[in-house]
Amino acid sequence: MTSGPDNAWHRPGANTYRLRVETLTAAQIRASFVNCSKGEAKRANLPDLDAVPWADLDFLGWVDPSGSSRAYLVAERDGEPVGLLLRQNPAGKGQARRSKLCEVCLTAHTDTGVCLTVAAKTGAAGKRGDTTGIYICRDLSCSLYARGKKASGVPKLRETLPVEAMVERTRSNLDDFLRRVLAG
Ligand SMILES: [Zn+2]
Repeated sequence: MTSGPDNAWHRPGANTYRLRVETLTAAQIRASFVNCSKGEAKRANLPDLDAVPWADLDFLGWVDPSGSSRAYLVAERDGEPVGLLLRQNPAGKGQARRSKLCEVCLTAHTDTGVCLTVAAKTGAAGKRGDTTGIYICRDLSCSLYARGKKASGVPKLRETLPVEAMVERTRSNLDDFLRRVLAG
């Protein structure tokens, strides 16, 4: 894939965040992964795609149901789905007992509801083993939290932003993370 300065994703002042996702097939999802091997993409456990609330998603994110530390995220940018293999920090152990904010949707969770989630970078940086991380909702349901369609266990601070602005903020924050992954 291309990731040079001519790539539209990196163009300063590009009018809006094109991050979103439309209904994808299993084959499209498997073909979309940019930061793992073809074997890992093929072996990924996909969610039940018929049960996915596509219309409410800025990105599709899910946790490997087998209980591994793997999680996955697919966002559509410039008409192309971009999938990431992620590694989640295990729950519990040594984490402070206080609420934490997701860096994408800014939802507050109990200490296990947000976790450090790491992605291998693409390109030359990825070949060197570079990774980048973000604290994000463990269930990767940021799109639903931003729309008020899902609630965390932590009482919400009064949020004065309209839903559209919260959605835009979620997209913008995830876009920053994708940029870091793809900057290699
Ligand atoms: Zn979130």
